[in-house]
Amino acid sequence: MGLELTVLGCAGSHTGPGRVCSGYLVTADGTRLLVDCGNGATANLQRFCRFDELDAIVVTHRHVDHCIDLVGMYYGLRFHRDGAKRIDLYAAAEVVDTLTGLLSADSALGFHDVFEVHEVTADTEVTVGPLALTFAESVHPVPTVSVAIEHAGRRLVYSSDSAGGPALIELARGADLLLCEATWQGDPDAYPDGMHLTARGAAEVAREAGVARLVLTHVLGSLDPRISVTEATEVFPGPVEAAADLRSWVV
Ligand SMILES: [Zn+2]
Ligand SMILES: [Zn+2]
Repeated sequence: MGLELTVLGCAGSHTGPGRVCSGYLVTADGTRLLVDCGNGATANLQRFCRFDELDAIVVTHRHVDHCIDLVGMYYGLRFHRDGAKRIDLYAAAEVVDTLTGLLSADSALGFHDVFEVHEVTADTEVTVGPLALTFAESVHPVPTVSVAIEHAGRRLVYSSDSAGGPALIELARGADLLLCEATWQGDPDAYPDGMHLTARGAAEVAREAGVARLVLTHVLGSLDPRISVTEATEVFPGPVEAAADLRSWVV
């Protein structure tokens, strides 16, 4: 099987009606990579596989809508019926400290028994089975990485939370599918700098990077993603769609 993206959750910043927060299952040739693990994402993950069937996890930053479900997964893996299971966790700076800070002392130690933690920066290169991962530093208030995932000549790029900028455009250059955050709608000047993109801002990144298709994600939980698609279509000439929980794309 080729490179495939399944959205587990895509509500931005907080859950929406029937929508959970960031989580993406990326698969190829039987390898399963979980990218981000926000509130609710693991409920949908388990429709597709068990926790111990994941080959690796990437967490792009410490905001809870991208990492908090790792706490529950930790308990699921630590008390697995066949004994504790260990999974490679590639996480941006401050993610693990944030999560273990929520746990008791013994569980915080156990966290490292369950997750083989590797801190990622813009220079990190990772191979997970047939998947090749590269990263870029994202413009966001806490240490955050955007990630590119390649398999058999196909390329998926996920912005994570991002205010855009040259590093994201460079990472996304020529991607077959750009999964780009579009938290906000309307006029970019109505929002603070350095945090997130509007739908038009995401479309500008896609246009500058020359990607084949754009999938908008992380639309604020209280907003209607269809409006985001309409706004992005005014800027990006290629196909634009909105992520939706449990939807899949072949990259
Ligand atoms: Zn977020
Ligand atoms: Zn964030």
